[in-house]
Amino acid sequence: MKMPRLVHDLGTYAWMSLLAVAKGGSVSGGLHLCLSWECGDEETDIDMCMRCPSCNVEVREDNPECGCVSADGEQSIHLLTMDVADTGAAEGRCLENMVVKVPVSGRYTLSISRYTGPPVSSVVSIAQFGHLLAIYRLPPNDAASMTVVHIDCGARTLTLTRPN
Ligand SMILES: [Zn+2]
Repeated sequence: MKMPRLVHDLGTYAWMSLLAVAKGGSVSGGLHLCLSWECGDEETDIDMCMRCPSCNVEVREDNPECGCVSADGEQSIHLLTMDVADTGAAEGRCLENMVVKVPVSGRYTLSISRYTGPPVSSVVSIAQFGHLLAIYRLPPNDAASMTVVHIDCGARTLTLTRPN
């Protein structure tokens, strides 16, 4: 599979995937998205959500799995799951993970919204089969929500697009 070269800047944020593992986050899977932000003294809470293009279910904190199931009902090959590892202000940084075991063809759209607290900056990393594809540094968001990236999956391609 030909990988797109979209690694913008590893910088000091390469530790994020390791931190997700340390916090018990699920990082295995075809597609792994990690949202990280500084909680701050006022404990800003940011939430991520993504819609499964196969079952059209929006996965978010209060609905952490999409509706896809396999024939045996055990486990889907394209199950989209979310893993929240918010630790609050004690460690000064919060994490949320989104994992797609085997991406299906179609568009996954990742959005984040600020739930509580003042605007803070955040970082989103996107990895495919453990390889980092892109890191987006997001400025503090005054709006209620913002679309971070469109992930268009084809049979042999994966394209990341940052909408304006
Ligand atoms: Zn689904």
